Amino acid sequence: MSCKANRRQFLHRAAAASAAAVLPAAASAAAAPTRNPNIIVILTDDHGFADVRWNGCKDIPMPHIDSIAANGVRFQCGYVSHPFCSPTRAGLLTGRYQQRFGHENNPAYLPNDPTAGLPLDEITLPQVLKPAGYVSGIVGKWHLGATPAHHPLRRGFDEQFGFIGGGHDYLKAGEPGETREYLIPIEKDGQPTPLTDYLTDALSREAAAFVRRHRNDPFFLYLAYNAPHTPQQVIDKYADRFRHIADPKRQNYAAMLSAVDDGVGLLLSTLRDVGLENDTLIFFLSDNGGPLTIASNGSRNDPLRAGKSSVYEGGIRVAFAAQWRGWIPAGSVFVHPISSLDILPTAAAVGGAPLPADRPIDGVNLLPYLTGERSGPPHERLFWRMGGGTAWAVREGRLKLVKPAESAAPELYDLDADIGEQTDLAAKRPADAARLRQAFDRWNAQLIPPRFQSPQANKKAKGKEGAAKKE
Ligand code: CA
Repeated sequence: MSCKANRRQFLHRAAAASAAAVLPAAASAAAAPTRNPNIIVILTDDHGFADVRWNGCKDIPMPHIDSIAANGVRFQCGYVSHPFCSPTRAGLLTGRYQQRFGHENNPAYLPNDPTAGLPLDEITLPQVLKPAGYVSGIVGKWHLGATPAHHPLRRGFDEQFGFIGGGHDYLKAGEPGETREYLIPIEKDGQPTPLTDYLTDALSREAAAFVRRHRNDPFFLYLAYNAPHTPQQVIDKYADRFRHIADPKRQNYAAMLSAVDDGVGLLLSTLRDVGLENDTLIFFLSDNGGPLTIASNGSRNDPLRAGKSSVYEGGIRVAFAAQWRGWIPAGSVFVHPISSLDILPTAAAVGGAPLPADRPIDGVNLLPYLTGERSGPPHERLFWRMGGGTAWAVREGRLKLVKPAESAAPELYDLDADIGEQTDLAAKRPADAARLRQAFDRWNAQLIPPRFQSPQANKKAKGKEGAAKKE
């Protein structure tokens, strides 16, 4: 049977199951896709777990981001595969634990270093979707290698607007030849293009234009905002909304997130304008938890412990939601742990594209769980490793074994009872600790050492951050 026939059969089954169980009649009647659904991934950068309304945020209105969860599902335990930028993106775009291929650190911005980036034999989500007829666009931050061979246009994307480093100035860009990472020229399809707007607004504009341009094609849009990552640069249009916030970092952070929310609103209204709202699966997530120490930006992760660069929950459990009107019941709450690694297999299933068969894919297709066709946890366990093993964690059900730093012993937490990871149960429950340790060791044996290191200036600081007791 062809993949497309498989997909149709699956969608039909999913529609029947979910329509009977949960969908209102109007939604089930609407759920009859006549084309391959579009897929959009909206990624924010260093956005705190608590800084969305569904996780308790009260001081930064983000009605459009909220609407994704309200119209779809919010993930109570939505994880990324790494507590910082580039490895998370490597996992998201391959569906694989990035330590399988040594992508465990941030590549320095090195346009001549072929090792510093996503290994060239890895298969990316746009490459997976291509045989199913998808056109793919990246808007925003790449951070998966700076050589010509690593360029997103060489890694499966058909169109590009943004920058290839790990961050960027929001107000200005340099001329061609500029080598300072945050000032390199903005690119459109690989060519330098002037930055004429506040960067976040420019990314939103280009994302909406991509949707209009491809209204008749099945498309994959990867909208990777660098906001609200530092530098904290704002414009009055957004800053004026938050003059009442006393903490200047929080005030700037709020303004930067508000700009993202306006952009999400533009994207969602564009989808409605061109009649694609019911034909589009949208994921929204942050690439890691909010940074509380190094490059702190006023974000909040409470009640989670620690933040970016830590394998405590604050580094890896993120604001995470998905919408597909007519398919995912509005207002759903998914309680079981899921991962950013699941985006690739879910998108492939939605698009009717086969997964690479020559390598392990660690994510799972979430769609049957989200439509109500299947229940229970999609993953038996989830794993994290950083620094080649100096810190790591494994989650199994409600338990988590976490080694937070090189000098620390593994700690065991019951996350259902203790979301803030305050009461270490390792001594009280040695059998559980030993089982999780063995599971980690089996997983760890499949990994390779890091192929490249993060820029030296960040390394020591990150070790310290991971070791901090309570942040
Ligand atoms: Ca980040």
